[in-house]
Amino acid sequence: MGKVIVVASGKGGTGKTTTVAALSSCLAVLGHKTLCIDFDSGMRNLDYALGMTDFTVMDYMDVISGRVDLDTACSEAPKIPNLSFLSAPADCNEDEVDVEKVKKMFDDIRENFDYCLVDAPPGIGSGFKLAHCNADISVIVTTGDFPSIRDAARAASVARELGVTKLRLLVNKVIPSNFRLIRTTVDDVIDTTGVRLLGLIPEDKYIFRALHDGLPLIMYKKRKSAYNFLDSARRLAGEEVPLYQF
Ligand code: ADP
Ligand code: MG
Repeated sequence: MGKVIVVASGKGGTGKTTTVAALSSCLAVLGHKTLCIDFDSGMRNLDYALGMTDFTVMDYMDVISGRVDLDTACSEAPKIPNLSFLSAPADCNEDEVDVEKVKKMFDDIRENFDYCLVDAPPGIGSGFKLAHCNADISVIVTTGDFPSIRDAARAASVARELGVTKLRLLVNKVIPSNFRLIRTTVDDVIDTTGVRLLGLIPEDKYIFRALHDGLPLIMYKKRKSAYNFLDSARRLAGEEVPLYQF
């Protein structure tokens, strides 16, 4: 039975979409059959992060409404075996979506994939709630600045209220000198959010480059960000992987 992993944050721009693309590519490279779904309708851009902008013809609303089956709606990533993608609708009012049908879609996904990564919209509104309606794990992404950390703490608490029992924290865009500058540490971030650490991802200009090249980040194997995402994916899959010290 597969696992549904929602990637969320309070604040926008922390790196949710980048994280979904990177973790799902890594899980696929590790041999797990993986699906990633864009749940950020209106502002969808997971297709960019995967280098799959030509694959947004069908979306999860087509599946929920019964217009197409799951298999037809999902597109296989051309450059990464084991990885599939399902787009968000260009526009959608989450308040009007039938939650039971979304839950059913995630149950079907569990039957067909080992992992499903969900790119949640920013904030803790109806889109966040819909994305979490049938989740096994919530990965909360934050950067090292205080507004982002406080919003991550709030997002974690709402995810718990929604019944998600397993939460993990990903600290992204880490610049160690910035942490020293404001005399904060990763332990402070863990304490404030109350969430167990999944991984630390450095600020890396190659993430910008990968987007521009239309290539998944995992293709840049020697980049610190790529192998830190790979380590985080291994931890998600249950392996014991020591934390990389910056
Ligand atoms: P979100 O989905 O949370 O809004 P994105 O994944 O779209 O955030 O990332 C926001 C911006 O930050 C994008 O331009 C992305 O390329 C960049 N970015 C994300 N993670 C990193 C990182 N570790 N280093 C450098 N840039 C990053
Ligand atoms: Mg995004």
